[in-house]
Amino acid sequence: MPSHDVLIIGAGLAGQRAALSAAEAGASVAIVSKVHPVRSHSVAAAGGINAALNPEDTWESHAFDTVKGSDYLGDQDAIEIMCREAPDQILYLEHLGVTFHRNETGHLGTRAFGGASAARTYYVADITGHAILHVLYEQLMKRSEQIDRYEEWFTTDLLQDDDGRCTGAICRDLRNGALEVFNAKTTILASGGAGQVYKPTTNGLIVTGDGIAQAYRIGAKLMDMEMVQYHPTTLAGNGLLITEGARGEGAWLLNAEGDRFMETYAPNKFELASRDVVSRAEQTEINEGRGFPDGTVALDITKVPRRRTLEALREIVNIGRDFAGVDITREPIHIRPGMHYIMGGIKTDSDGETTISHLYAAGEVACVSVHGGNRLGANSLLDTLVFGRRSGAHAAARALQMPMPSTNASRVSDTEKQIAAIMNRPESGRRIGAIKNELGETMNEYVAVFRDEEGLQKAHEIVRRLKEEAAVAAIDDRGSVFNQDVIAAIELGYMLDVAETIVVGALERRECRGAQWRIDFPGRNDEEWLKHIDISVNGADVPQVSFSPVTITRWQPEERTY
Ligand SMILES: Cc1cc2nc3c(=O)[nH]c(=O)nc-3n(C[C@H](O)[C@H](O)[C@H](O)COP(=O)(O)OP(=O)(O)OC[C@H]3O[C@@H](n4cnc5c(N)ncnc54)[C@H](O)[C@@H]3O)c2cc1C
Repeated sequence: MPSHDVLIIGAGLAGQRAALSAAEAGASVAIVSKVHPVRSHSVAAAGGINAALNPEDTWESHAFDTVKGSDYLGDQDAIEIMCREAPDQILYLEHLGVTFHRNETGHLGTRAFGGASAARTYYVADITGHAILHVLYEQLMKRSEQIDRYEEWFTTDLLQDDDGRCTGAICRDLRNGALEVFNAKTTILASGGAGQVYKPTTNGLIVTGDGIAQAYRIGAKLMDMEMVQYHPTTLAGNGLLITEGARGEGAWLLNAEGDRFMETYAPNKFELASRDVVSRAEQTEINEGRGFPDGTVALDITKVPRRRTLEALREIVNIGRDFAGVDITREPIHIRPGMHYIMGGIKTDSDGETTISHLYAAGEVACVSVHGGNRLGANSLLDTLVFGRRSGAHAAARALQMPMPSTNASRVSDTEKQIAAIMNRPESGRRIGAIKNELGETMNEYVAVFRDEEGLQKAHEIVRRLKEEAAVAAIDDRGSVFNQDVIAAIELGYMLDVAETIVVGALERRECRGAQWRIDFPGRNDEEWLKHIDISVNGADVPQVSFSPVTITRWQPEERTY
């Protein structure tokens, strides 16, 4: 049985950063990932990472922009920490070898991003996540005496002792189907977001909300799950992302009549208003008949000098050509708002501690909460690094002061039975893929940019029915070697749990704030709803709602305009 001081589930940017900081603190670390670490979804991050590093910029300005971007739902103590620690994270990465863009004077150069009052986004062309992930992975390999990597291992369940403390996890070796108990003094969930709950989404197939559901199932509180971000520029049909970096470089949004419509919705910031504002503006144009027949508006990147596009947005040039048949340096490309990110997640404090003792969470899986109702572009990579580092350090410090817990290894046989039951289901009922498609399309129809009670109730009924169907859905592969069928069945269960908590949160919050735009409850209502919605499961698989206060340090809520 592998035993470590700190077990980290997930090897994207949050998990890798946590692993390095736990190892630096002297802990023995295991890091588990269901895919090879450099295939973690952080690799897709394109546009960059925010920090007030320039001497003319201040962390306070970054923090205020983040608070305003969050529609005042972000916890300001956590936001202050993130923005204060941001410059150190950029320098840390640069010293490790991340090749951030340098300007003509040889200094680190920035680009503008949405909702920001200064150009403070540091980047590596439009492959920033890729560049950072690979450099951190080199460091994991360098520290291989302290950090054991379990690559292509799938965590199925978290373990607890009789006092409710998390004592590790059960993981399946995808190469041969073997199950193992991973014993750990402290456990950090860094397993990413839940984009696949929606269809389409900008997120890859592996982003299935596993950690959120696993924590929820053992009683952890989730927070603000209704806050799901629709990114303003995704390709129709396949949902692929055109990075906000394109608008940062100067691209315009145009409706089918050729109007630069953001002038009406955000006269000061135009295309660089925060994402919720831009996505609603686009959807309004489309709904009111000023979009194109394919339900889109246009992103005109020809406003950016061609040479600059080829240098700074080269992957977007490839995506435009390969997935839309458009040369973005010569003609506008059709885009629309698409599901991109979940602001909600496992409730944590600013050291990553969840409501379950000895269980931490960091990165997109967590809700600290620094993004509140709407995340600013390029603040997520920052979140993964700042809170990945802090959770790693805190989890290590705690682990180094305690003995190894004794884990009940017999829990493996429960998981074995559950997996055998999935494999032995009779060939009846619906396919896993069909259920997943219906789930994604339902969420994209009823729990999207605009929401109302009727649609949300309908979504809830469908999710409950899909849960029943998923419980008997048969799979084809009954083998043990790389059995992705059985993994897909388990992931579907996680996605349905996550979907239900999103819908329940969206039904509960009766106001318009950030990404939660209830057309049946117009306007932000600070008097009743300036609070977090916490969701935990009660014994009967029913989400239970409670509330917690938003931390306000220095910025009182104001009207939010761009
Ligand atoms: C296309 C795209 C572009 C983006 N661009 C930017 C950007 O420019 N700037 C920005 O700030 N943000 C950006 N984001 C958001 C940002 O990339 C993510 O929020 C962030 O990278 C998430 O990192 P993470 O470490 O939390 O999770 P991930 O990188 O998703 O890693 C999750 C890890 O958990 C593992 N895992 C999951 N479930 C299990 C399981 N059951 N068992 C074992 N392992 C498991 C996975 O294998 C993986 O290693 C972008 C997102 C997308 C989709």
